[in-house]
Amino acid sequence: MNLAQALAAGGIEPREARLLLAEATGLSAAAVLAHGERELAEAAKARYLEMVARRREGEPIAYILGRREFYGLSLAVGPAVLIPRPETERLVELALERLPLEADTIVADLGTGCGAIALAIKKHRPRARLVAIDESVAALEVAARNATQHALAVDWRHGRWFEATPRERFDLIVANPPYVAAGDPHLSMGDVRFEPPGALIAGSDGLDAIRAIVRDAPAFLREGTWLLLEHGGTQDAAVRAMLLDAGLADVATWPDLAAIARVSGGKLKSD
Ligand code: GLN
Repeated sequence: MNLAQALAAGGIEPREARLLLAEATGLSAAAVLAHGERELAEAAKARYLEMVARRREGEPIAYILGRREFYGLSLAVGPAVLIPRPETERLVELALERLPLEADTIVADLGTGCGAIALAIKKHRPRARLVAIDESVAALEVAARNATQHALAVDWRHGRWFEATPRERFDLIVANPPYVAAGDPHLSMGDVRFEPPGALIAGSDGLDAIRAIVRDAPAFLREGTWLLLEHGGTQDAAVRAMLLDAGLADVATWPDLAAIARVSGGKLKSD
């Protein structure tokens, strides 16, 4: 079997077949295409066919490769963590806009998963101290591995939302919490079928985690500092109402690149 035959035999999307064949052979995706006549070594062929079989069963490509790019960082991922999504990069941008480069700030990331948000912020704001919390020990192991890989220092904490949060006030609190409603038909489609339910599902309306975070956040914010939350595309009005109820000011929602209402936030009044 040569490379061209391997790509054709995939029975999966051509772009994904290229990625998996590159992974199995150690070649670049471009080289895989350019050298179609090259014969596949037995070990690479076995590895490729095993990965293709997993993909045909629906397993996310990020879990098969064991990594995903997020905000310019290649991050290890596996079934213990949600796969970082491009829309979450919007949350990182909004966070960075609120953190001066030349200041010693302290930032909390609640439900950090593989550490994507915390690590992206730390990379771009080296003077910020990041406290990143997750209730999954397995997720924190993945996150710590990513921190070591990129030589970024983050203070990882085990616990649920603010329960594990040090009793101090932050210059920014960010979270991409679970926000899908239990029973949402979207849960039986695509990558989410393989992702940890605890990272996706938050009660019957999908808002349980956001409610808990918004309720407690004001006690952990400094005057004039922001809480920023990712949420689902139809949840923005409900989330803004919660933020206002909690007494936060300048409450707003920002769309992602697909023009879906994706991040809402508010800041603690400085009166
Ligand atoms: N964006 C994910 C999805 O809808 C959900 C992520 C989350 O719940 N935080 O597939």
